[in-house]
Amino acid sequence: MGQSFARLGSRVTIAGRAPRLLPKEEPEASAVLERAFAREGLDVRAGATVTRLRREGGEIVATLHRDGAECEVRGAALLVAAGRRIDVASLGLDAAGVAVGPDGVVVDEHARTANPAIFACGDVIGQLRFTHAAGYQAATAVRNALLPFQTALDYRALPWATFTSPRSAASARPRRRRGDSTTTSPSPASPTATTTAPWPRARRARTAS
Ligand SMILES: Cc1cc2nc3c(=O)[nH]c(=O)nc-3n(C[C@H](O)[C@H](O)[C@H](O)COP(=O)(O)OP(=O)(O)OC[C@H]3O[C@@H](n4cnc5c(N)ncnc54)[C@H](O)[C@@H]3O)c2cc1C
Repeated sequence: MGQSFARLGSRVTIAGRAPRLLPKEEPEASAVLERAFAREGLDVRAGATVTRLRREGGEIVATLHRDGAECEVRGAALLVAAGRRIDVASLGLDAAGVAVGPDGVVVDEHARTANPAIFACGDVIGQLRFTHAAGYQAATAVRNALLPFQTALDYRALPWATFTSPRSAASARPRRRRGDSTTTSPSPASPTATTTAPWPRARRARTAS
């Protein structure tokens, strides 16, 4: 969103508590995007906590705490990324025998809800809230609804992308790094080996543009 507004001509500051722009991705991917944002004039303040907001004249003033110091950012508008929460209260799912838990509509590994005739997929099941996850869950649900054999959801090699420019894409789980609590740790049941290759050598990973 920040990059879109910057490209439409707004002066944009992105402030977040995470130590880098894409905390769930490899640090190298985050660094590529941070450099691209800097080139486009976005001001990224990673590791910053917003401690105060006030209006001053026609402006919104945010006080940021970062690296033990305070600073202020001023702007005409404030966009808050506060996360997403599912809202199915008005759908009457109780009446259909579909169970809802704290994370969303409850499904089994076949994407089937508590009512065996109803399947659910996407953000509403509260698992991985990515476009590619929704598509994968939908394909699994449709297969399981229509075909006699059942396929279980398996997220071990699921790709995902962050739709920035350049896009960041990843597959499987990021490796765990010492002192980095933000990445997902590989499952002991499925150990992974990691290799790093320079981008010019990764021809098959390149996309158009
Ligand atoms: C700001 C933002 C940035 C994001 N960036 C990324 C990203 O970079 N990469 C990524 O992979 N994912 C990203 N996501 C997440 C991604 O958009 C979702 O994971 C994905 O859209 C989920 O698909 P879905 O079909 O489950 O839900 P949605 O795409 O939300 O579709 C649900 C549809 O159901 C409709 N609907 C809702 N209630 C009813 C009703 N009662 N009756 C009929 N229709 C209804 C809605 O109008 C909507 O069209 C982002 C999300 C947001 C909000």
